Amino acid sequence: MTGEDAGGGDLHADVVVVGLGAWGASTLWRLATAGVDVVGVERFTPGHPFGSSHGGSRMFRTACLEHPGLVPLAQRSGELWAELAQVSGRRLVEPTGGLLIGPRDGHVVEGTLAAARRFDLPVELLDAGRVRAEYPLHASLPDSHAAVLEKTAALVRPEQTILAAVEAAAATGARILTGTAVEGIELVDDGVVVRTAARNLRARQVVITAGPWFSALVPDLPVEAVRMPMTWFAPSGDPASFALDRFPVFIRELDEGGAVWGHGLGADLGPAGEVKLGLEDGGSAFSVVDAAAVDRSVSEADWAVLTRLLPDAVPGLGAAPTRAAVCMITRTPDRQFLLGRPREDPRLVVGGGCSGHGFKHATGIGEVLADMVLNREPRFALGFTDPNRFS
Ligand SMILES: Cc1cc2nc3c(=O)[nH]c(=O)nc-3n(C[C@H](O)[C@H](O)[C@H](O)COP(=O)(O)OP(=O)(O)OC[C@H]3O[C@@H](n4cnc5c(N)ncnc54)[C@H](O)[C@@H]3O)c2cc1C
Repeated sequence: MTGEDAGGGDLHADVVVVGLGAWGASTLWRLATAGVDVVGVERFTPGHPFGSSHGGSRMFRTACLEHPGLVPLAQRSGELWAELAQVSGRRLVEPTGGLLIGPRDGHVVEGTLAAARRFDLPVELLDAGRVRAEYPLHASLPDSHAAVLEKTAALVRPEQTILAAVEAAAATGARILTGTAVEGIELVDDGVVVRTAARNLRARQVVITAGPWFSALVPDLPVEAVRMPMTWFAPSGDPASFALDRFPVFIRELDEGGAVWGHGLGADLGPAGEVKLGLEDGGSAFSVVDAAAVDRSVSEADWAVLTRLLPDAVPGLGAAPTRAAVCMITRTPDRQFLLGRPREDPRLVVGGGCSGHGFKHATGIGEVLADMVLNREPRFALGFTDPNRFS
């Protein structure tokens, strides 16, 4: 069964996955692959542009500056991405290399180096002179800055990944309800009752991967949805200088605070001829929102900070974006994920709080959450993502 739920009597399954975005689609795939009787429920259609996982591209890195403990998860995600690309026949990953740029002692360079050192990753530290010489679009880099080059960094395609995972799960027996919003989840003696307008779904366990809508279903965990615009710019000069092989994906921390990220041109990653740029979370540029009522219109206020920074940080682009779209992230107080069983409840697994750096781990997180459902030994030490850490 795949499609909108026509309704009927109660539906029974071993596991229900609520929310088939990046993390939920991967969880569904890993559970179905493990032979679990699983139903996935999605309020829109997989690959939709209303949550956290649209806009054509996301950056994949293994030297995770957000927490060194994420390195094994990123590495495993890379393996699973290759598997998913193979089973789906879809192009999901575009190798690009990546530059993590900023003050030599800043959080981007130092965080990346710390992760790389802990797991002996093959990254290279470039001083400012070398960056300026080899990557002319970063010619404004001051001498006190540096860059870490991670050659294994890549761009991954969010919508294609979700579609691939949902298709692969369906091919392995998962049932999928689209256009179906979960309205409530009740923990009962022998499992859970997941309520939709059409009917009740009864299961032994539920996995909640609702992204920016997470707090509507799990109100007692500290997450907030944050509105984060994405913007695309046209080169004002030679577009070839922004091609991915000359302009690797990057994050650049600035002296005045904040960081700009960018994805170059090419490989069918979005509208032809547009460079995707945005700001890292951390400043006042983004607002906390109710995901159900977020303002999806865009205006100059959405790119005012970025366009002020760009002429110096990334020269050679038009003064205003040619396109913009609203995306959301789900933020926790410590900016780490929530992966686990709240209150050690055997009926409930959650995957939320992506905090703006969760796409690169999507396939690995699917496997981690599936392992939790199956009560398997954890593959990695991810205690810092335990949802009970705030209680
Ligand atoms: C602009 C931007 C840039 C980013 N860049 C990067 C990057 O370069 N690298 C990186 O690793 N990460 C990046 N991220 C973060 C990354 O995109 C997210 O971590 C990831 O997409 C989170 O996926 P998710 O599954 O948690 O949420 P989503 O993909 O939004 O999935 C949640 C799903 O649950 C569904 N749902 C919600 N409530 C219900 C309900 N009640 N019933 C049924 N279905 C429901 C939603 O419709 C949705 O499909 C970026 C995020 C943004 C916004």
